[in-house]
Amino acid sequence: MRKDYISWEDYFMAIASLSAMRSKDPVTQVGACIVDRDHKIVSVGYNGMPYGTEDISANWSKDGKWEDTKYPYVCHAELNAILNSPRSVKGCIIYVTHHPCNECAKAIVQSGISEVIFNNDKEGKESDVAKIILDNANIKVKKHRADFKNIGIRL
Ligand code: ZN
Repeated sequence: MRKDYISWEDYFMAIASLSAMRSKDPVTQVGACIVDRDHKIVSVGYNGMPYGTEDISANWSKDGKWEDTKYPYVCHAELNAILNSPRSVKGCIIYVTHHPCNECAKAIVQSGISEVIFNNDKEGKESDVAKIILDNANIKVKKHRADFKNIGIRL
């Protein structure tokens, strides 16, 4: 038997990372992968614009008038993964490339997801409030510890 096969956690985080590569955001690419307790992938998502608004918000700007920036439009990876799911995500684990923000924390809690595994810390008040929301909802949150620091895929 092979000894160097990847762990479930590395596998699902790699899928979240691969999903992030679909993002058109020039600054931040975030991916999420929702998995049930039987290690079955339920859904994936990445940060993107809502259907129909791709042209309005195509510049992905961070500066300027609020309604001209990406912020009021972009749908985060976690929310997209939850909304993309064909079934309930109750009791599932969400793997995310970045720590969730407060808006996604709310969606995670309300959807019934019971565990969050994230790869990169995110500083700021959105992340701080997300920690309060997730903690009060008794959602297990942990930082991913990779066995494989680099997974190469050749196509
Ligand atoms: Zn978010």
